[in-house]
Amino acid sequence: MRFELKAKLTFSGELKQVETDIESTMEKAKPLLCKGAPKDKEAGAARVVRWRVTGRDLEVELESGRHVRAHDALLRLAKLLGAELGKKHKLGLREMTASECRVVLPSIEVSKHTRAKFERLPYDVKVGKAGVEISLKNLTEADIRGRVVDRLISMVEEAFAHVPARVAEPKVVRRGPKLDHPFREDPFEVAKRLSWVIEFPARGQWIYTEPYTKLLRALEDIIIENVARPLGFEEVMFPKLIPLEVMQRMPGYLDGVPEGMYYVSPPPRDPEAFLNFKQKLRLTKRLPIHELRRILKEPAYVLAPAQCEPFYEVFALGRVRLENLPLKQFDRSGWTYRWEGGGVEGLVRTQEFRRIEFVFMGTPDDTVSIRDEIINKSIEVLEKLGLEWRLSVATPFYMREGDVGADIGDSKKVATYDLEVALPYEKGWLEIGSYNVHQAKFAKSFKIKEVKDREVWTGCCGFGTSRWVVGFLAQHGFDPSKWPETIRKGVQPLPPTHKVVE
Ligand SMILES: [Zn+2]
Repeated sequence: MRFELKAKLTFSGELKQVETDIESTMEKAKPLLCKGAPKDKEAGAARVVRWRVTGRDLEVELESGRHVRAHDALLRLAKLLGAELGKKHKLGLREMTASECRVVLPSIEVSKHTRAKFERLPYDVKVGKAGVEISLKNLTEADIRGRVVDRLISMVEEAFAHVPARVAEPKVVRRGPKLDHPFREDPFEVAKRLSWVIEFPARGQWIYTEPYTKLLRALEDIIIENVARPLGFEEVMFPKLIPLEVMQRMPGYLDGVPEGMYYVSPPPRDPEAFLNFKQKLRLTKRLPIHELRRILKEPAYVLAPAQCEPFYEVFALGRVRLENLPLKQFDRSGWTYRWEGGGVEGLVRTQEFRRIEFVFMGTPDDTVSIRDEIINKSIEVLEKLGLEWRLSVATPFYMREGDVGADIGDSKKVATYDLEVALPYEKGWLEIGSYNVHQAKFAKSFKIKEVKDREVWTGCCGFGTSRWVVGFLAQHGFDPSKWPETIRKGVQPLPPTHKVVE
């Protein structure tokens, strides 16, 4: 790995008269630029290859191998120069920029797929004879200090290492008894026919009428009575409007699936700003959408896609103590949103859906056993409801393949289990729950600290209750007299759909 860096350090005054001091500082810097490189690998350290002064600017070129990267060497050099020239001549370092940074990574086999990935990166990445050449131009001090170069290298290296993801078949680890349900229809079609759901102008959203809602609430109550209560989970209410800076700390969302969220742009709280908009609307009776776009501010929020975002944020502000954990909470306070675009599908893939989100935090062992207990209780509920189920191991999207999830014999090493129910009408399966242990990944990205620096793990389990309804109806049908006793108690009497239109 080779680095070449062209940088400019701007000082508070003319440098010509202090050139000899700069020269001696450069000499003094030599061992500093090698510090940290292994004894026999000094070639991997950094050196200044050229420098000159013009006015208040010191232009400097650095080269290095992998051990002291040129941009890190630049920071060391700038600190030393700032101290020396400040002490002797009262000259302060005002700005640091790099007009160019070139990185050559040793040659590796590059597939067509990988090459295409490079072309989409926001920097110039070329695959040449010498290897992969990355070139970054006009780096600011914030870029240099913010480790942009290192991160870009990791992204490129990752692209090399990454084998194109195959859609792995879920590895089924447990399954319930095979049940023979006579109902064979698609519950989505029946629900529409019976007006249990009514179409809403936007695709992937539905108005859920009385019988559907009563069934959903009854299923929610059963989950809370049989899973949350016995395991000591308490109800909380989390915001559903999530500021972007909170979202940014959620691994795998903004940096993984930014295309799968709704972004919210607040308007200025100023009636004047809407003057044109209101007038045009009154005059034309058409929505002046361009006008609206002009008025709105930049997006500042997303509509919660995960439902557990606020949980971690609470602890980012202070320290936790393992002795006060585990903490167990659940949220059933609203909709969850995913922008599915053209991927919406009946009642199983919608833009807004119901979910009960269980969140917990504790020692590694506690976190794993809580997750596993939630799974066991969930399975008991499914059996009570007379539903055919299976449990499989999945790799969550925020974990890279191979990170965790490889050893399916050891629950501690499994990041995610998915619980699925059978859909007799299509001889398929529907995922209704996802049971996650994040290890320390979320705690790290939210900078959750423990008083004695002990490891804190988090986990979350999402009960996709909208899908529980679909699975229930797919297996049991729409006639309440054929439903299991547990649920019949909860919905009796099932209200009819209030027909408003003939
Ligand atoms: Zn979650």
